Amino acid sequence: MEAKDLYEIYKKHPVVTTDSRDCPEGSIFIALKGASFDGNKFAAMALEKGCSYAVVDEKEYAVDGDSRYILVDDTLVAFKELAREHRRQFNIPVIGITGTNGKTTTKELISAVLAEKFNVMHTEGNFNNDVGVPKTLLRLRPEHEIAVVEMGASHPGDIKKLIEYVEPTCGMITNVGRAHLQGFGSFDGVKRTKGELYDFIKATGGLIFLNESNADLVEMASRREMPRIETYGRDGEGSVTGSVTKCDPFLNFTWHISSDADDAAAEPQGTELHTKLVGAYNIDNALAAITIGLHFGVTPEQCSHAIENYTPSNDRSELTVTEHNHLIVDAYNANPSSMAAALDNFRLMDVPAKMAILGDMRELGEYSDEEHQKVVDKLKEYNINNVWLVGPEFAKTRTDFRKFDTVDEVKAEISRQQPQGHYILIKGSNGIKLFELPKLL
Ligand code: ATP
Ligand code: MG
Repeated sequence: MEAKDLYEIYKKHPVVTTDSRDCPEGSIFIALKGASFDGNKFAAMALEKGCSYAVVDEKEYAVDGDSRYILVDDTLVAFKELAREHRRQFNIPVIGITGTNGKTTTKELISAVLAEKFNVMHTEGNFNNDVGVPKTLLRLRPEHEIAVVEMGASHPGDIKKLIEYVEPTCGMITNVGRAHLQGFGSFDGVKRTKGELYDFIKATGGLIFLNESNADLVEMASRREMPRIETYGRDGEGSVTGSVTKCDPFLNFTWHISSDADDAAAEPQGTELHTKLVGAYNIDNALAAITIGLHFGVTPEQCSHAIENYTPSNDRSELTVTEHNHLIVDAYNANPSSMAAALDNFRLMDVPAKMAILGDMRELGEYSDEEHQKVVDKLKEYNINNVWLVGPEFAKTRTDFRKFDTVDEVKAEISRQQPQGHYILIKGSNGIKLFELPKLL
């Protein structure tokens, strides 16, 4: 079946589910395949539970003569094409976001700023892959005035594949760093893949928002001769420029619109904003949101108001004060560049009794040993009183820091010697499960 025909059905049945446990009456079930499941097997059950149609890609599961079964070549492609057809019904700005670190935080800050003026549809949580992105697009409704869509990538070509469904009218890359090197092959592979966003925007005459303080991004944009650029940056760089005034541990900063990129703007100017974000690197995310807000006509006061009121969640740049300690929980994600940003920030924090519990940075392939060793070497220069390393990759490093194979061993140690009165940075890849620790500390 063609995407257009499926879309005609969708118009009468505008609820799609890919989960056979959740089958709203009258919805369309799309039988996706995963590493360990085949949705085709659940098609009959989905119809029984109330779905009006089941889109399958295995002939044996499409019952002959039963028009509720829709047989396609590839259910994931059908799902994406359906989402693209839906997206094309909306003549609104669609902002595409990718990058190594800070996509979700930036997406949320942009959405918060734009919500001061518009009805915004944005990616929920971290739904940024080739299932999450179509799901996001299908949430577009006539009342939406602008959309903010996060796109993730871990292999070459991933952004190209997503962007052709999102069709953003403008976009930004937060940064490019040394993550998912196993999938990308090299740092150049990361740049090429994220650069697919610039390629699409250039080809379609759209606009990019560019962090002028980031040399890699500036090089990627200038090499492509991007036609339409709005810039932001730190300490006088960019048209919207900002400076960190304090990070204790919450980021405080000033920002202003620079009349001339070379003006004497390196000095902090403007009213100081007090954010609820931990980590100086968040200034880049906040400046991106302000730049995009201003572009779409949000006032400077509204931009500042939205940034100050944004409270992060989901273990990203969060500060938790427990009975015993202050915790900086960053347990959802770790790669060499976000680890370096978190440690640099922790180093700058003027607080007593610092402790770091760091988990492996996964998916680094042949670079893994070298990148973990770099972290422990760097840690030696930092005045962190107590460092615990968790996971098999850190286990291989040459260091005197304390090592744990698993989070369970860390838990046992915490119950033996309940740390008290510390500022504790908790950071590691999600798979190491450091998110289980805050409740014990
Ligand atoms: P994912 O790939 O999991 O979707 P993401 O790109 O959406 O991640 P966030 O979830 O916003 O990123 O942030 C994850 C972590 O990245 C943060 O907790 C922080 O350590 C780091 N980070 C966020 N923003 C930046 C930034 N601008 N520069 C460097 N590191 C950052
Ligand atoms: Mg994310």
